[in-house]
Amino acid sequence: MNEEAERLRQRGEPVIHLGIGEPKNKAPINAVLNSAAKLNTGDIKYSPTDGILSLKGAIIDYTEENYDRIPDPDNIIVSSGAKQSIFNVLYTLLNPQDEVIILAPYWVSYPEMVKMVQGIPVIVTPEDGGLHPRMKDILQAVGSATKAIIVNSPNNPSGLVFSDEFLKELVEFCEKKSIYLIVDDIYHKLVFDGRRPAPCYEFTEKEIDDSKIIVINGISKLYGMTGFRIGWAIAPEKLVRIMTNVQSQTTSCASVILQAAAEGALTGIQSIVESLRLTIENNRNIIMKELEAFNGVKVTKPGGTFYCLPDFSAYQKNSVELSELLLRKALVVTVPGKEFGMEGRLRLSYAGSVNDITEGIARIKWVLDPESPNEIYIGNRKCVRDWL
Ligand code: PMP
Repeated sequence: MNEEAERLRQRGEPVIHLGIGEPKNKAPINAVLNSAAKLNTGDIKYSPTDGILSLKGAIIDYTEENYDRIPDPDNIIVSSGAKQSIFNVLYTLLNPQDEVIILAPYWVSYPEMVKMVQGIPVIVTPEDGGLHPRMKDILQAVGSATKAIIVNSPNNPSGLVFSDEFLKELVEFCEKKSIYLIVDDIYHKLVFDGRRPAPCYEFTEKEIDDSKIIVINGISKLYGMTGFRIGWAIAPEKLVRIMTNVQSQTTSCASVILQAAAEGALTGIQSIVESLRLTIENNRNIIMKELEAFNGVKVTKPGGTFYCLPDFSAYQKNSVELSELLLRKALVVTVPGKEFGMEGRLRLSYAGSVNDITEGIARIKWVLDPESPNEIYIGNRKCVRDWL
């Protein structure tokens, strides 16, 4: 779908992208300057496999400030994106046929990665038809082969921030049952309505080395630095050692230039994260207003990220067909809920401009809702709806 959208865009078609998974801001200046300074030295070599010590220092400070825990440098491994960190963790933890609980709706890569390392993804869908995971559904899915549970809050694709009660119960359960809890915190500061992102360590007394919690983080989303490809994992030292072996036989290390950029982002002015958060919260308010006025569409208000996952099943239960229809008729890119394990829904991103959001939703309305005006301008082309 993305390729088709790109093809249309290159032909000059006025495509609106509500599928995007990255903020639009420029990289923080301190990240750019720090990486440029490193590049200027001309001394660009391998770094230690688990990351440059000074970047680890910045990650330690970040973790202390945001998680109230002080990891040791040996608890940290820096990777080429949070994605590689998650892969390293799964590769390290799983033996063939080990099961990993994945909470639907889920980020598309989790089940694929589990399968790549010969594990079995066990998908748990809230039985009440909602988007928030429930402990009782998880308990039913846990068995003797369960090695880990992956949790992602604020959540891609729903935008939900999971309740503190749920996270507390989940942490306590995992610590008690010796099940690893992989906490994907890549969106953790992008939360709205005055909420505070709940750090999972808050719910355990255990030190990082004795805990089952593994925290995944990175600069991609909070700093809008997706192209720099730096992420990290915080885990017990014994796991970090194995993850480092895995990484040393795959990528050796993340690029030193990009590690310098990440250090710059973490040690530079942090107001950039807050201004991004405010922009996105405003966008969330706008998309909610548009969707709430959309007949037949049900939407749960996102508490974070830059996604929502409205239910369009009143119009079309097959999300792939719906998404294709919207691209064909209205040049709007969306992501089918099926990819995240939830049919009848579409993931809409509000990381773009206010105009993308309002015009994108107006076009979707025009395609689906017979009560909306049956003429619309797409770019400077007047389009008449003749299919409802
Ligand atoms: N986890 C989630 C939930 C994501 O949405 C993404 C990016 N789409 C990642 C991890 C990967 O982040 P990175 O760019 O650091 O690899």
